[in-house]
Order: sequence, then C-alpha cells, then structure tokens
Amino acid sequence: MPSVSASSLVKNLIRSEILALSAYHVPDSSGYIKLDAMENPYLVPLALREEIAALVAGAAINRYPDPNPFALKQQICELLDLPEGMAVLLGNGSDELIQLLAMAVSKPGATLLSVEPSFVMYRMIATFIGMRYVGVPLAADYSLDLAATLAAIRREQPALVFLAYPNNPTGNLFSAEAVRQIIAASPGLVVVDEAYYAFACDSFIPHLAEFPNLLVMRTFSKLGMAGLRLGFLAGSAVWLEQLEKLRLPYNVGVLPQLVAAKLLERHDVLLQQAGQIKLDRAALYQQLSEIKGVTVYPSEANFLLLRVAKATAVFEGLKQRGVLIKNLNGGHPMLNDCLRVTVGTPEENERFIAALQESIG
Ligand code: PMP
Repeated sequence: MPSVSASSLVKNLIRSEILALSAYHVPDSSGYIKLDAMENPYLVPLALREEIAALVAGAAINRYPDPNPFALKQQICELLDLPEGMAVLLGNGSDELIQLLAMAVSKPGATLLSVEPSFVMYRMIATFIGMRYVGVPLAADYSLDLAATLAAIRREQPALVFLAYPNNPTGNLFSAEAVRQIIAASPGLVVVDEAYYAFACDSFIPHLAEFPNLLVMRTFSKLGMAGLRLGFLAGSAVWLEQLEKLRLPYNVGVLPQLVAAKLLERHDVLLQQAGQIKLDRAALYQQLSEIKGVTVYPSEANFLLLRVAKATAVFEGLKQRGVLIKNLNGGHPMLNDCLRVTVGTPEENERFIAALQESIG
C-alpha cells in the first residue's frame, strides 16, 4: 500500500454525492422529556413485559434467526385482513424497505419521486443508491398539489413514487382521491407509506387489489416497537417475490421476531395506547391553538406541526427546560419557523406546554 493518507483515499474512492452528504443527525436525548421521534411514550403492562422476559430468556440467540418467519408474517396478514393474493415482506424498520425498493428499480437514469416537505429518507436513500430524485412541492396548506404532481409524473416518468399517508413532518392525511389519481397516472411503482396508520382514519390496504402498481408500507415503530425495528410491505406476491431476492437473509433478528409476535398477540393493548395518544393529540392541539403566536396544523399522526416566530430560539428554550422536540427550521423553505412535537403522556404534554409558554416569553 503506497503511503497515502486515509482522507485522500476516501476522497478518491467514495462517491462524490456521498462525500457531499451530512449524516442523519440523531441528537443525544438522555435526560430530556423526549418528544422528538414519534415514539409511543408507553411501555406495555408489566405482566406482558414479564412474559416477554421469559420468552427472551429461552430464545436461541446462538442461532441465526428464521430467514423467513412464516408464522409472524401470517399473524400480520390476519391482523391486516389483507385482500386475497396479497402478502407481506418484513424489513428491519421501514427505512430498510425504502432502500430495498430503491435498489430494486434503480436502473441507470431511474427516478424516485416524492412530495416536499415529506420524510427525508426518500431523498436520502435515492442519493445513497444513485437514483435521480424529484421532489414536488406541496400546496401552501401542505395538501397535495395534484396538478403539479401529475405534471411531474408525466414529465419525469418516475420508477418509484413515495407518498407518506399521513405525511411526516406535516401530520396531515392527503386527499384519498388525489392519491388514487396519482397511483392511476403513475407508470411506475407507488408506495403509500402508512407509518402513522394507527393514528389515522384511512388506509390504502383495502385498495391493494385495485392497482397493479401499488404497495403499502407500514412500520410498528410508532405503535410501541421503535426499539425492535420491524416494518413491512404489503402487496401483490408478484412484486414481493422480486423484492425478497434483495432482502438480506437475516434482516429481522431472533429477539425482534419473538417479541413482535408476542406483542401482536396483544394488538388490542397497542391500539388502546394509540387511542389514548389520539385523545391526547386533540387536547394538545387545543392547548397549542390557544397560545398567542403559535399556529398549529391539523394532524392524523402522533405528532403536531407548529409554527412560531424565532422557532430555533424557542426550540433551544425548550431544550434548556428539559424538553426535546424537533426543530424543522431551515430544513425546507416551506418549514421556516416550524417545530414538530410528538404527542407524549399527558404529564409530558403539560411540561411541554409550560416550557413552550416560557420559551415564547
Ligand atoms: N416512513 C415515515 C413517513 C416515517 O416518518 C418514518 C420514521 N420517522 C419511517 C417511514 C421509518 O420508520 P422505521 O424505520 O422506524 O420503520
């Protein structure tokens, strides 16, 4: 090996678009009231945790996981009431599934299209994989700009379209009719990302059989299993068969498989928690809308988007008072002075409101 420095090797060898990226920043949250990452604030009841502990104690962690956990997939299909002929593919979180989809369609020159502002991983993963990315701006009220989106689809002929339903970070649910028109007009695959399905009142799962180019992606992260990393794609076996070829054989570990299966047996407990979060979302929305200088946006997710003057200073004020939320200011022109807060427990929400009032001054 010639005497060259690691940094000059890195500059030579790493793709320029990767060199230009900054890593996805996850702030240190220790000691804070953590309302930044759309997690469910509740643990499951102690008796259920003890059952999980016993399962974990007996788990064969010396063995590789089941590469294709049929029973767990079956359990998910039954919970979803999937239409005939549809199946699921499991991912290590849905982030992994976005990557897998992009890898599958990234022929030279292929385009990934989404709307903006939306989940930043769509753009980031397109860059990782070397796909072209097109982001169509939402309307000023964060609804879909249908005419602009349809025009972009005609112009760009994207191989892959992602629509987050409800959308992150704006929290709203797009018009189902507009989404249907986008799916119908798309020459490529459309993935409706239902990460926040547990807090919303609509889903495209019942419509899977109507569109040959539709897949629905979900995650259990927001339903109390963020630490397990489990997401899935639901759709026609014809698509999933191809995507399975790209899935790394042991992408879902022994413990996530075991614990998820146990938790999904008690799906009722998780849905009850989601129901509580929806009630608390309504209360938090009401409280925020009464604070002078705060604009809060309607949400069908487990978080709220708000706009406030000098958002970065307010974000820092909240941090100084022990509350961590997400500062979106500067991330996208349509998110100037925007903050995003995850709905926590009622006590956490109270602490957030008090800290917000003090930070606004
Ligand atoms: N899709 C959307 C819209 C999200 O907001 C998130 C998480 N922030 C994800 C997918 C990824 O979730 P996970 O990887 O935890 O399954």
